[in-house]
Amino acid sequence: MAKRKLKREGNFTGRPVTTEWTDTDPEAFTVMPDGRKMERTVFGLTEEQVGRIRAGYTCVKCLEDYDTAFPDECKVCHFPMREHQAAEFAKDYRGEIRFGPSTTIDEEYEIAEEMIQREAHEKATKLGLILPKPSIIVPRGIK
Ligand SMILES: [Zn+2]
Repeated sequence: MAKRKLKREGNFTGRPVTTEWTDTDPEAFTVMPDGRKMERTVFGLTEEQVGRIRAGYTCVKCLEDYDTAFPDECKVCHFPMREHQAAEFAKDYRGEIRFGPSTTIDEEYEIAEEMIQREAHEKATKLGLILPKPSIIVPRGIK
């Protein structure tokens, strides 16, 4: 019940953005007075999700999603979206970052290609189509 009321007030779409990947940002952290290092989270978002944040439909702070662009404030985290979202987005947007292993797409293809070839070779060897490499043949009749 309370949830439904909140939804109407907040103009939620009811579909907060969920990220497929998150990582910590090694270049942005806050050192607390007691010396602890608080790392910031980087969200991995699709182009469409980034577009909605840029256009003010998705809260840049907590990723709650709205029907209208730039509401006064996010009803979930109270971030003043109308006033600060554009500036916050400009500050936080990192462009395209590669997540995962730091290999290029070409390298990934090469690795995949190698794996396929190795598997095919193993299969053919098992089926007896290819002889295992080190095969020394001793011709008959020689002693
Ligand atoms: Zn929010």
